[in-house]
Amino acid sequence: MTKTKTNEDISSSISLEGSTQLDSEKTTPIDFIDKETPSSKKIDDESLKKGFNSFGFSKDLIHTLEKKGYEEPTPIQKAAIPELLLGRDLLGQAQTGTGKTAAFALPLLERINNEEHNPQVLVLTPTRELAMQVAESFKAYAVGHPNIKILALYGGSDFRSQVYSLKRGVEIVVGTPGRVMDHIRQGTLIHEGLQCLVLDEADEMLRMGFIDDIEWILEQIPNERQMVFFSATMPSEIRHLSKRFLKDPAEITIKSHKKEAKLIKQKYIIIQNSYKLEVLKRVLELSSGEGVIIFARTKAITLKLAETLEASKHNVAVLNGDVPQNLRERTVERLRQGGIDILVATDVAARGLDVERIGLVVNYDMPFDSEAYVHRIGRTGRAGRTGDAILFISPRERSYLRHLERAVGQSIEKMEIPSNQSINEHRIAKIKKDLLEKASISKENKDESDLLQIIINEVEEELELNPKELALAALNLAIGQSTLLMKTDESWINQAERYNKSGERRDSRGRNRRKNPMDIGSNDKDKERFRVDVGHRDRVKPGNIVGAIANESGLNGRMIGRIQIFEDYSLVDLPKGMPTNIFKSLKKVKVMNKELNINRFS
Ligand code: AMP
Repeated sequence: MTKTKTNEDISSSISLEGSTQLDSEKTTPIDFIDKETPSSKKIDDESLKKGFNSFGFSKDLIHTLEKKGYEEPTPIQKAAIPELLLGRDLLGQAQTGTGKTAAFALPLLERINNEEHNPQVLVLTPTRELAMQVAESFKAYAVGHPNIKILALYGGSDFRSQVYSLKRGVEIVVGTPGRVMDHIRQGTLIHEGLQCLVLDEADEMLRMGFIDDIEWILEQIPNERQMVFFSATMPSEIRHLSKRFLKDPAEITIKSHKKEAKLIKQKYIIIQNSYKLEVLKRVLELSSGEGVIIFARTKAITLKLAETLEASKHNVAVLNGDVPQNLRERTVERLRQGGIDILVATDVAARGLDVERIGLVVNYDMPFDSEAYVHRIGRTGRAGRTGDAILFISPRERSYLRHLERAVGQSIEKMEIPSNQSINEHRIAKIKKDLLEKASISKENKDESDLLQIIINEVEEELELNPKELALAALNLAIGQSTLLMKTDESWINQAERYNKSGERRDSRGRNRRKNPMDIGSNDKDKERFRVDVGHRDRVKPGNIVGAIANESGLNGRMIGRIQIFEDYSLVDLPKGMPTNIFKSLKKVKVMNKELNINRFS
């Protein structure tokens, strides 16, 4: 890396000291709040206007950013880049989507020493997907720096070819802890020349059981170096780690993702697919009468849902990619005016939809990613109003909740499946309210009121009814053919609630309350059981095994089933049909410093 830039070098850039708290909202003015150090300076508007030019970046990098269409640095970039250019350590609390990758990648690229061909920057990520993504970002930003080589190191890909690439010389390494450890141990990753280490998504590393590995790696890094930790949340373990390894770090916190999210009450119901439709009907029963948007994954599902809801007398319309533009506009207008109450939509079709009267968003199917979730729930809580969002989630998808919570920076609460009793209470309250309203407002159309009065008088005389009997008949007429009270079989709810109850996942420290966090799906027919050679004796935790297997095999953590830990071995349920090469590489993976030596268990 080149010599640390002096203050003068970046005199036109933003200077922040101490801890800074920022707001990631692009629409709100950037609000730099001094948290701990009174000496923090306000950024003057003039320097902000200069965009990336204000950092003193090389022409090549500015050109690359222009080509990528980056006009303004994001808040985390505004705060972090000047600090990192100065070579300062940094502790950043920021979620994905805030532009944090560029916040560390751009200044580190600028500080690379082109004369040295050993690794100068090491970025650690919790998953191989993130390792690939971060390496790709570095490559994209480095197009104007053709001599800088970037390499991603992760489990599941050929070790020898990684050694070969390392030997040819790389300046920036992005990797997952297990594989990086292996390379350091084998002497194939020369770490003596490292000048900067970035820990990306530190809390996720902790959750995946990598904390010991991380500590080991951090201990190997030379003393005179820059260290940067990014984490979406700041659990005490990460604070401790930063106290131990970071030297006088700049602290930057990006305030929660979306302000509006706070106005939206978010809940989830864990439910098997077969019960979803029934649960949806029950949820709609309890909705306040404002507009509802139901998000489904495919066009076919939107149609099926709309048909079913129509049959249950709901005012519903579909918004999906097959609906022509002019009809879409009419549909949205009808929703706005109250001509329809429920819209069943796909993500793409509902993009940007802004209707104030949406009081409830139902995520009937899981969103594809957290960005889609943030967008979906943002269809309610418009114009400063409050709103509800309910997420249907299958037992298998449960672990995904954490990602969504991190994306919105707020917890998603568990909700019970509405029972007959709660629905009936709601129905009774509603009919009373409707009756009161009708009784207190006289009909505007006088002729019609007079006519209704004549009808009442005639029926009264003909059948010799008293007013109460007559009112009862009128109420029955209003209720129609269905009954006021729901009396359908609800025994299935108890069964479904079993999953929902075991979905009470975490205590305040983010740990799983269930004895075995992976204790779901153990009877899964699609899985087979494996034995691994680590157990209680090695002080292994389920998270260690999940982390190692997920990284090496590329399996999503969600796909890893039940884990039982015994004294000197553990059993793990994994999807059937594991390819031989993955199986082989898993055998050598080390957890708690011991090879897994995975074998099929029969
Ligand atoms: P990240 O939080 O690093 O995952 O980045 C989120 C997305 O924002 C990525 O697709 C980046 O390419 C993009 N991005 C980062 N910084 C900027 C910027 N200053 N202007 C526009 N897009 C950006």
